[in-house]
Amino acid sequence: MIVILKQTATKDDVKRLTKDIESKGLKTSVVVGTEQTIIGIIGDTTLIDPKMYEVDEAVDHVMRVSEPYKLANRQFHPNDSIIQVGDVLVGGGNLAFIAGPCSVESKEQIIEVAKSVKASGANILRGGAFKPRTSPYSFQGMGTEAIDLLLEAKKETGLPICTELMDASYIPLFNEKVDLVQIGTRNMQNYALLKKVGQEVKKPVLLKRGLASTYEEWIMAAEYIMANGNKNVILCERGIRTYETYTRNTLDLQAIPVIKKLTHLPIIIDPSHAGGKWWLVPAMSKASIVAGADGLMIEVHNDPEKALSDGPQSLRPDKYDSLMKDIKKLVKVMADGND
Ligand code: PEP
Ligand code: MN
Repeated sequence: MIVILKQTATKDDVKRLTKDIESKGLKTSVVVGTEQTIIGIIGDTTLIDPKMYEVDEAVDHVMRVSEPYKLANRQFHPNDSIIQVGDVLVGGGNLAFIAGPCSVESKEQIIEVAKSVKASGANILRGGAFKPRTSPYSFQGMGTEAIDLLLEAKKETGLPICTELMDASYIPLFNEKVDLVQIGTRNMQNYALLKKVGQEVKKPVLLKRGLASTYEEWIMAAEYIMANGNKNVILCERGIRTYETYTRNTLDLQAIPVIKKLTHLPIIIDPSHAGGKWWLVPAMSKASIVAGADGLMIEVHNDPEKALSDGPQSLRPDKYDSLMKDIKKLVKVMADGND
């Protein structure tokens, strides 16, 4: 971080500021120019707020030269993180294929979908139990009963299960029963929940990108979870809100290389919530894998017309199967290309 002083700043101002910065355990390096004096701050500047110095009357402005996140930062952790979900590895070349319905609706539905997606090559089963719906009159999910149905589907297929946590009071239940704890888009900036998830969730976390969040805000949300004790975070891009209304959201594929450059965490893509239309899912899934995503989260429903949530964006099992066949071919071509 660099503090640029006003031309009117005096030697006493420099002394006062460097003393204050050093009292916070940081080092300083002062460069006195002919026009301006600058103070370089050396050390862990994640602990200080640049705005704090901007209010000082001797300071012109402050510039960050390093990112405000540390634990998620690739600079301090050059290798890809590999996160274990049940017995499935995610990241560092290991792909997560998460599939299942938006909401768990019945035992028959979740078991049928689980068996079919497993046969197609999915390695993690998803299914919403607590649903963050825009309308309070829409189906809110089956709650804890859905988690038990997911467990039955897990027993039948061996697939680890992923479902969304909205309320911290359910953390003990999720710790006991869920393999991958999803934090949804709408809660990405629920800092009280993120702290609790960091402190108390013993399972890996799938952190979806907020509806209109910048990369830095998203990474800072991951940093909240990591700084509070849970380092096992997988990021999920699921489309962001733009001026376009034809699609539900706009899938930001640039997130893949950007997140990989800035962080060491795995990033997966959810093309279902991005486009909001089932027929967009295959093209966007293939593009995501080619762009280097660490996996996909795709909504699959055995009867999308009757789905209680997100039917229009859900693939039928046969469509998911043919998509997974294409994905396997792509993965092979990419691996051969690396030989
Ligand atoms: C979901 O995965 O069903 C969901 C509600 O996702 P998002 O938080 O991305 O909207
Ligand atoms: Mn959904």
